[in-house]
Amino acid sequence: MKKQTLIYNGKSKQIFATESQNFIIMTYKDDETAYFGVKKSVIPNKGMLNNKISALIFKYLEKNGIYTHFVEQLDESEQLCRRATTLPLEFIVRNIIAGSLSRRLDIEEGTVPEQPIYEICLKSDVLRDPMINRYHVEGLGIAKEETLNQILVILKKINELLKNLLKKSHIDLIDFKVEFGFDTEGNLMLIDEISPDTARFWDSESHEHLDRDLFRRDLGDVETAYKEVLARLENVLQNG
Ligand code: 5GP
Repeated sequence: MKKQTLIYNGKSKQIFATESQNFIIMTYKDDETAYFGVKKSVIPNKGMLNNKISALIFKYLEKNGIYTHFVEQLDESEQLCRRATTLPLEFIVRNIIAGSLSRRLDIEEGTVPEQPIYEICLKSDVLRDPMINRYHVEGLGIAKEETLNQILVILKKINELLKNLLKKSHIDLIDFKVEFGFDTEGNLMLIDEISPDTARFWDSESHEHLDRDLFRRDLGDVETAYKEVLARLENVLQNG
């Protein structure tokens, strides 16, 4: 399948139409941004690394019963995916307190909550992805109660699967953000990406960051860390 018109040009990815109504091609960029585009840079190989990491994770989730948009990795920076009608929502799952939750409620980063914490944000750069709750989502007609219930079940499953996979790679899954959409037949599916750009990964022993916080907070070399994440995942998924 070949790339046709550009239908979405995002901060870290582009989406192209294909000759089929049912599929799109997603291209990963080397551009890195933080704080809603206030901080910007280009990280060599980041697109390739996130493409490969996300492809490995989506294949693993599919194998374990999660329906996703991922079809196949086409080359170093491209994936063929199912076309989606997207929900304008971001779902965050937190296993350890960090980032905005730590700042907002003044809880020390690294604190372990009694159970995973789920958040919903409205996808809007202009409004800076404001946090909303399920009553906003249902009341404003963004998604139905039944869809949110279905998503919550899927989020729990993804969290367990990812925690287990990453544990084998000596990585703690601190938190992650995911998005959902509907395929052309109306089936709910996981879309977008799961990578060190959309999750917090800490080395299990040293607790060093292996994610976008390296860029956000100037903590170290992003490319080296993302390469390390890919190598560890390949080791677990391809060799054993
Ligand atoms: P926080 O709310 O602490 O900034 O983010 C929680 C988790 O969700 C982190 O893993 C973060 O990378 C991810 N996340 C939240 N919002 C966004 C977003 O708009 N874009 C991306 N790429 N990741 C996000």
